[in-house]
Amino acid sequence: MTERLSTGQHRLDDVRANYETIVENIAKAAQRSGRKPEDITFLAATKTVEPEIINYAISLGLKKIGENRVQELLSKYDEYDLKNADLQFIGHLQKNKVRQIIGKVSMIQSVDSVKLAEEISKQSVKNDLVTDILVEVNIGREENKSGIMEEQADEILAEIAEFDGLRVRGLMSVPPICDSKQDILKYFDKMYRMFIDISGKKMDNISMDFLSMGMSDDYSEAILSGANMIRVGSALFGARVYR
Ligand SMILES: *Cc1c(COP(=O)(O)O)cnc(C)c1O
Repeated sequence: MTERLSTGQHRLDDVRANYETIVENIAKAAQRSGRKPEDITFLAATKTVEPEIINYAISLGLKKIGENRVQELLSKYDEYDLKNADLQFIGHLQKNKVRQIIGKVSMIQSVDSVKLAEEISKQSVKNDLVTDILVEVNIGREENKSGIMEEQADEILAEIAEFDGLRVRGLMSVPPICDSKQDILKYFDKMYRMFIDISGKKMDNISMDFLSMGMSDDYSEAILSGANMIRVGSALFGARVYR
């Protein structure tokens, strides 16, 4: 088989076929886990993808997109079709860049410290806004990954919940890359238990509406494990080309 980087119409046809497959898989996994397809939020991870292609996916019905670099988000910002989709931030966020995205994104999924939440609060209040956030959990306890440790969750959530200008809407995680589906399920289960646990505590200013986990290789498993938001990149847009 020859490798071909599809361009033009081929590229769009691929995206359409991929989109339909993912939507079908979401529906199946939702039903198998006793939920409705519309209970699951499909967010497309759009790093390295040109706005033209992103907007094509939006024209197919995609409602959420997520970028993970501030610079890239800003450079593409004017071109996204944000009348028909909503833009979130899903990557590691430095405190000094918060200011640049407040008001541009409907949710920041990757809040991994009280300090970062404090800055989101400060910039949101300054702009008379309330920003939705998810707290990112480093469920695999990986050294090079962002996210809070499981055992810190109660304390950190309680501190973050005190801030004005933000609303905690749930948890997000990027589990370790695993060789087997069995291994990834362990992490998904842990996240789901945490999500349910925290929901049960009914903490002020914290609503556990979203459990964001599952990517191209494992989104069905994530949904079966209780995720209600998945973040899918390459399964929709094809392998990423870094320029
Ligand atoms: C890129 C990215 C994804 C999607 O990854 P794929 O494997 O391409 O589906 C999901 N979440 C985050 C935070 C990402 O940066």
